Amino acid sequence: MTMKGLKKICSECGMKTELQAISLEVERHGIKATMTGVPAMVCPRCGEQYIPGEVAGKIIDLLHNILDQTESAFHQAYTWTDPELASPQFKGQLILALA
Ligand SMILES: [Zn+2]
Repeated sequence: MTMKGLKKICSECGMKTELQAISLEVERHGIKATMTGVPAMVCPRCGEQYIPGEVAGKIIDLLHNILDQTESAFHQAYTWTDPELASPQFKGQLILALA
C-alpha cells in the first residue's frame, strides 16, 4: 500500500507504527457525525494515531458538509395545512429532534 504522508515511526515514543482503520468524529451543536474505516498509522505502544493529512482533510470536510446539511434540515420550517380546515389550530409545524 502506498499513501502519501504515512507516519512510520511514532513521534511520541519512537515505536514503529501500524496501519489500522480508525473512526473519525466531529460534533457540532449536539449533532455527532462519525466516519469509520479511516486509514491511520497507530502506535501499538502509546496509542497515538497519525492520519495522513490529505485523508484527514477530505474526511473532516465531508463530515462538516453532512453536519451543515443536517443542521439546515433541522432549521427548515416544514408546515402542513389543509384548505378545508383553514384554522390556526390545524396549521401544523414539524418539530425534529435527535433521540
Ligand atoms: Zn508511540
